[in-house]
Amino acid sequence: PSTMREVALEIPTVRWSDIGGQHATKLLLRESVEWPLRHPEAFERMGIRPPKGVLLYGPPGCSKTLTAKALATEAGLNFIAVRGPELLSKWVGESEKAVREVFRKARAAAPAIVFFDEIDSLAPARGSSGDGTSVADRVLSQLLTELDGIEPLVSVTVVAATNRPDVIDPALLRPDRIDRLIYVGPPDEPARAEILRLQLARMAVAADVDAAALARRTDGHSGAEVVALCQEAAMEALADHPDAQHVEMRHFDRCLARFRPRITAEMLQ
Ligand code: ATP
Repeated sequence: PSTMREVALEIPTVRWSDIGGQHATKLLLRESVEWPLRHPEAFERMGIRPPKGVLLYGPPGCSKTLTAKALATEAGLNFIAVRGPELLSKWVGESEKAVREVFRKARAAAPAIVFFDEIDSLAPARGSSGDGTSVADRVLSQLLTELDGIEPLVSVTVVAATNRPDVIDPALLRPDRIDRLIYVGPPDEPARAEILRLQLARMAVAADVDAAALARRTDGHSGAEVVALCQEAAMEALADHPDAQHVEMRHFDRCLARFRPRITAEMLQ
C-alpha cells in the first residue's frame, strides 16, 4: 500500500565550492562523516566508533541543507532526504513505519547519508505532547531503535538539521546517537562576498555592482537572504524596464532599503 514513494534517493550536485564561507562546518562534517565512511578500517584500528549522527543547528537559510548535500556529493555518498513535517503528514498513522523504511533504504544504498531536515518536528521532547503514546513519541522511539542499531547501522550516517535544538528530546542527542552538534551560523562579511560573487556570476550584472560593498551592507542577512536580494534586485530592474539588460547598483539600493532581517538575536548561538 503506502510504498517508498516519499523516500527518494537523491544524487545531489552541490559542491563545496558552491557554498560561501562555512569553512569550519565543512571541515567538521568531513571529519565526522566522510572520513569514517570512507576509512572504516582506520577507525577500527584506532579502536574508536565513528559518529552515528551529526546535528546541524542554527538560524534559517544559513546553508545547513546545502552543506549536507555538498558532503554527499564530495564524499560520493548516497543521499536520502526526509523533511520531518512531511514525513508526519504523509504517513499519518504510520510515521514510525516510514522511519523504518528510511533506514532500510539507507542501508541498501550505503554508504549513505540520511538527512533529516526539521528534526525537531520528529523528536520533540517527550511528555510535551501528552501520555507517551503520541505519533511523535512512537517516531522518536523508532529513531532511537534505528540509531541504537538493533540492526547495525553500517556505513549510514544521520545528518539532522534544526533551527530549534532546544526542543529536541535529549535522548536523541545522547552519546553514540546524534552526538555531534555543529552550529551553522549566518555568513560573515567574507562569506557574504563569496555568496554574492557566486550568485552574481550567474546573472546579467552592470559594472557598477560591487559585491564587496554589498557584502558590507548585508550584515545580519542569511545566505538565503543574500541570494534573494540578488533576485529581487533583478526583478526591480525588470520592473523599471521590461527590456532591462542587466541589474544595476541602484536596484540593490532600493531592495536593501526595505530589507527586514528574519534572523533575530535569540536564533544565534
Ligand atoms: P532552513 O533552516 O530554512 O532549512 P538551511 O540552513 O537548511 O535553512 P539552505 O536550504 O541550505 O539553508 O539554504 C537556502 C538557500 O540559501 C540555498 O539554496 C542557497 O541558495 C542559499 N545559501 C545559504 N547559505 C549559502 C552559502 N553559504 N553559500 C551559498 N548559498 C547559500
